[in-house]
Amino acid sequence: MRTYATTDPTTGSIVREYPTMSDTEVQNALAQASRAYLTWRRTDLAERAALLLRVAELHRQHATELATLMTLEVGKPIAQALGEVELSAAIYEYYATTGPGLLGDEELDIAGAGRALVRTAPIGPLLGVMPWNFPYYQVARFVAPNLLLGNTILLKHASSCPQQALRLHELIEAAGSPAGAYTNVFASNDQVADMIADPRLQGVSLTGSERAGRVIGALAGKHLKKAVLELGGSDPFLVLPDADLPGAVAAAVPGRFGNAGQACTYSKRLIVHTDVWEEFLASFLVSAAKWRLGDPMKADTRLGPMATVAGRNKLAEQVDDAVAKGAVVHLGGQVPDRDGAFYPATVLSGVTPDMRAYHEELFGPLAVLHRVDSVEAAIEMANDSPYGLGSAVFTRDADLAQQVADQLDVGMVGLNTTIKSAPDLPFGGVKNSGIGRELGRYGLDEFANKKLVRLA
Ligand code: NAP
Repeated sequence: MRTYATTDPTTGSIVREYPTMSDTEVQNALAQASRAYLTWRRTDLAERAALLLRVAELHRQHATELATLMTLEVGKPIAQALGEVELSAAIYEYYATTGPGLLGDEELDIAGAGRALVRTAPIGPLLGVMPWNFPYYQVARFVAPNLLLGNTILLKHASSCPQQALRLHELIEAAGSPAGAYTNVFASNDQVADMIADPRLQGVSLTGSERAGRVIGALAGKHLKKAVLELGGSDPFLVLPDADLPGAVAAAVPGRFGNAGQACTYSKRLIVHTDVWEEFLASFLVSAAKWRLGDPMKADTRLGPMATVAGRNKLAEQVDDAVAKGAVVHLGGQVPDRDGAFYPATVLSGVTPDMRAYHEELFGPLAVLHRVDSVEAAIEMANDSPYGLGSAVFTRDADLAQQVADQLDVGMVGLNTTIKSAPDLPFGGVKNSGIGRELGRYGLDEFANKKLVRLA
């Protein structure tokens, strides 16, 4: 049986364990979410919005405590953890304030007589399966629009974030959510499968790995449940010959080393035109070298440990495999001689398709730079990935930027910027990066019944 546990990433030691729920407890939670739906869906929209506003306020009131828990459980440097708490609050606030205006009936322009409206209605209890890398923000993306819609939520968080999972449950309850509108479940994989199979559950949203996406997607398909899958990425970051190089470096370096590189998006594959290769590489290395390992609880630490020793070991294997096959290490590349899940900021070039680091998702502080000799080659390499989440294109030529944007097989493209998540910007990918969108008005559509109301 899986155990939910807080493990300190700076030491690798277990701090506290929580038992997985019994099957009866999971069934009770599902029954309660199902009962709560009957009243929550009829609760005034203004009241549902007011709940979200209080959740936002409570995130801000308890920001230091929430951020400290995140640093404890996943090793995120405290300054970055505080930033995530604020972004999460902003998402609840956005759906509380802007959301109701997005939920009005849509009048259709129809050929026949009478009128036709499309009404956005809830569908029922939903299950969220969430990852550890942005423990509050990922929950906010799923929970805020769906509580506003009138759906109810069962939330299975990553087994490495139990304290954050419990604290979120408490905060949403303290904000005034009725029993069953939001319930944390410490569920096993089998219990997740049981919930998806249960006729009371109407949908499932997973943010996590491609591997988990295949499992949850298959279960959802089998039981005809709506699913949103927000999966991994290997974002290309194109630096074209006329790019603003200082601007590109300033975007690429924090994009790759923030959260110890454990992000689905940003600058994972830096594809640099040969004309600016030397200058970009030199400047990238100067900037990357400033990301020194440190205590994540200290306010000025930029690079803390990775979240788990297992994740660190996988990254080290990907680097070792590349180096053994001829990749060049410009920075880092060695597991440090200290406890915990630390890995230094690492920069590789000369990575070729026979190396794991070429096609696999790199989930740690590892930047891979590729040298190409034309814009066409840059686009081809950018698309040579099983993933299609975010991307960035740096060039001063606005027309070229748009042309390249059109040719990238991705869900999001930043022109002279990286994709920074914001409450009002849709987020999601294509290919193996998943199915569906979160945030903005699109986040309200995924688990909605777009109900046609036809008037004579
Ligand atoms: P993960 O191992 O797939 O876990 C994600 C969640 O799925 C956890 O709650 C995990 O539970 C659960 N899970 C895994 N296998 C399951 C199964 N067979 N049945 C039921 N539940 C299962 O991913 P992670 O390591 O936490 O997160 C990192 C991944 O998430 C990366 O690939 C990253 O790119 C992706 N991600 C994507 C986005 C996006 O928006 N596209 C955003 C953030 C992260 P346990 O913890 O209990 O195993």
